[in-house]
Amino acid sequence: MLGATGSVGSSTLDLVERHPERFEVMALTAAKNVASLADAARRTSAKLAVIGDERLLPELREQLAGSGCRAAAGREALIEAAAGEAELVMAAIVGCAGLEPVMAAVQAGRTVALANKEALVTAGGLMTGAAQESGAVILPVDSEHNAIQQCLAGNRSCDVARIVLTASGGPFRTKGRSEMASMTPEQAVAHPNWSMGAKISVDSATMMNKGLELIEAHHLFGLPSGRIDILIHPQSVIHSMVEYVDGSVLAQLGSPDMRIPIAYALAYPERIDTPAAPLDLARLGSLTFEAPDLERFPALRLAREALEAGGAAPIVLNAANEEAVAAFLDRRIGFLDICQTVEEALLRTGASQPRSIDEVIDIDRAARALAGDLMRELAA
Ligand code: NAD
Ligand code: MG
Repeated sequence: MLGATGSVGSSTLDLVERHPERFEVMALTAAKNVASLADAARRTSAKLAVIGDERLLPELREQLAGSGCRAAAGREALIEAAAGEAELVMAAIVGCAGLEPVMAAVQAGRTVALANKEALVTAGGLMTGAAQESGAVILPVDSEHNAIQQCLAGNRSCDVARIVLTASGGPFRTKGRSEMASMTPEQAVAHPNWSMGAKISVDSATMMNKGLELIEAHHLFGLPSGRIDILIHPQSVIHSMVEYVDGSVLAQLGSPDMRIPIAYALAYPERIDTPAAPLDLARLGSLTFEAPDLERFPALRLAREALEAGGAAPIVLNAANEEAVAAFLDRRIGFLDICQTVEEALLRTGASQPRSIDEVIDIDRAARALAGDLMRELAA
């Protein structure tokens, strides 16, 4: 489990601990939170615990003393954990930081339950290519992609007309641009339906999350941009849909609880029970839909342009967005400056085509530096 202390990580641990007969935890990783990593390792009798920050290794060793769990730290150890003996790897690190470990798991031929969408956005082609070579299976955990995977089961992909990604619209769905300009990090992370980590919550407020998911869907399901639509559905009950050439539309529904798609990926092709609230449609009464507004949410347009441009563009989109979201959470820039920074960074992007993960990482690094410069200009 990569990213065991996060929102997806905790939901995964919850399911694993409810099904002790089914799962054995080999390794758990986290960036900095030693206490909750050590606690999870003890509870699950994990064999290896890895902390990203090497300075924290002595503290992790101390907290694991006598537990039988080995402690390790740093980039190499994260990669070792990802490519270890586990049959299934839950990839739940946030951001491009997860790219190398996810790629290691894919190259090792593991089944990869993929929550870490940024890894696919930045290196989708390389990753699906590596999966084909190694025989790795990538199972999407992102609720929309997990829904699509379920709606595709038993059908031929050549019969798919289009896929429809649903979006809640986030906390600012009904706000105008001038109102958005003054929104605080606290307001941006207060998602109406889902409880998630801070970065993806801000991405939901800008709707960059749906933009990243558009690119993610392209890589997972092999459809071009023109056959992937986005539909606002504020209740987050329909998690996405697939339309077939005969006009049939299949949808997957459920309560907005990440333990449902996580359970699907963990047990695939079987099903396990979850504590998610049963869906009560009579109580909900109605489900509503709206077309997305590209003027108020330019992230949707930027992500589609980046997908269609290909090459370095999705990497730059993601890197500039990660930097801008961090700056916004740190109160260094305003809410609307996030997409402004991403747009400026994309305008200055060349047409290179990365052929390796190292080249992806180089482009990512340069784009982060550029975004930093752009944000300093904005602040000046
Ligand atoms: P989070 O911030 O709650 O947790 C992130 C995890 O990654 C933590 O365990 C953290 O320690 C680890 N991590 C962060 N930076 C790291 C680094 N540099 N090196 C190693 N480990 C690092 O995030 P989350 O909300 O759980 O999201 C995880 C991923 O899943 C994201 O890519 C997100 O887009 C995706 N996702 C999340 C949800 C959700 O409901 N939270 C839904 C769909 C997709
Ligand atoms: Mg999603």
